[in-house]
Amino acid sequence: MSHSISRSNSEKLFQKAKTYFPGGVNSPVRAFKSVDGNPLFIKRGDGYKIWDEDGNEFIDFCASWGPLILGHNHPAIYRKVVEALQNGTSFGAPTALENELAELILSRNPFIDKIRFVSSGTEAVMSALRLARGYTGRNKVVKFEGCYHGHTDAMLVKAGSGLVTFGESSSAGVPAAFVNETLVLPLNDEAALRSCFQQHGFDIACAIIEPIPANNGLLLQGGEFLKTLRSVCSEYGALLFFDEVISGFRVSFNGAAAYYGITPDIITYGKIIGGGLPVGAYGAREEIMSCVSPDGPVYQAGTLSGNPVAMAAGIAQLTVCAEEGFYQDQEKRTKAFVENVNTYAKEKGYDFEFVTIGSIFWFNFDGKKNITRADQINPDMSKFKQLHAFLLNNGVYIGPSGYEVGFISSVHNPEILKKAAEVIKQGLDHVMAE
Ligand code: PMP
Repeated sequence: MSHSISRSNSEKLFQKAKTYFPGGVNSPVRAFKSVDGNPLFIKRGDGYKIWDEDGNEFIDFCASWGPLILGHNHPAIYRKVVEALQNGTSFGAPTALENELAELILSRNPFIDKIRFVSSGTEAVMSALRLARGYTGRNKVVKFEGCYHGHTDAMLVKAGSGLVTFGESSSAGVPAAFVNETLVLPLNDEAALRSCFQQHGFDIACAIIEPIPANNGLLLQGGEFLKTLRSVCSEYGALLFFDEVISGFRVSFNGAAAYYGITPDIITYGKIIGGGLPVGAYGAREEIMSCVSPDGPVYQAGTLSGNPVAMAAGIAQLTVCAEEGFYQDQEKRTKAFVENVNTYAKEKGYDFEFVTIGSIFWFNFDGKKNITRADQINPDMSKFKQLHAFLLNNGVYIGPSGYEVGFISSVHNPEILKKAAEVIKQGLDHVMAE
């Protein structure tokens, strides 16, 4: 089991890519900087499998960082996308497909009356922050340490995801004035929350949170803190903003809002509603959405917004997700997978924490529960690196950073999950023996 796969084609492609792109990539975490610095170039995906440019085959738990909840190359998505492509790729004019996807989402969603499609999660957050400020006439925004909301300027303060991976606390190129109105609070800290609102409450436009923080590992909050946040926002007339770019259509059709039974005022969704094509969205109740241009004064636009090919992929994917029992089945398979590995780790006495919600999972080697960023001071990532290498060499692909979560899709059947669990267990033996 200690052989190394051939990576020579990926290595050559990476050398070439470095001459074209900063760090050789078009999004930082892809550079494998947190592991061995040698990214795999992926050639093809089908179902739960992906193949790299050297012909190595992997069980994929990255799922393009979440959106591929039906796996790669799903026949229903493929058919619908081809059908849309035959009519053209983009018109910059309304299409019936936008209505169809909106109907699919809104007819089942009690939390939002209207939606606006954009092209990425970052764009959704940026637009919705503007809307929150425009609607309330207030400037300040509360965000929580350890939550990532894309790379819009106001959110690049002690953010998670790639930033934590690279050990930075903010980004160059963001003037202090752009983040002066962003208040950063620790997660799960009611006292800090109340004190912040006592001081600034009536200047706060919104509090943005990943209700299931999944960009600094999985920092599961439990419903209580979220309920407190809901009531504090209401008390001060600030909007509660759930960034459901990861949790939306992932832990349930209506995301964490439905999972916890909490009604936010604004929600952002991301890539999952595009079935792997570039889409994001924000939504709110009618009164708030009526502020958006052209109905209202909050300007927001996009040439490729509501792109017909992306809408088609989203319609095909969410139609399957809306089927009875889809999410229960996802959760059941994920739980069995996680428990299988956890039982083994416990028997062996390994300090290893494998946590899950819905069909998201994350593991760390702290041997303790992580709820806030502060739980992750000086984490030892050397074991993660070793495990990552072992998994790649034995046919299991996970995100190349110890802070990234993994995703189970509908095509990860119980047999394949058992097979993957065995590889992870062997990986643990290998790593813990070092
Ligand atoms: N919000 C959250 C919660 C995210 O996880 C992400 C990215 N994964 C974003 C926003 C930004 O989305 P995108 O990468 O599509 O811009």
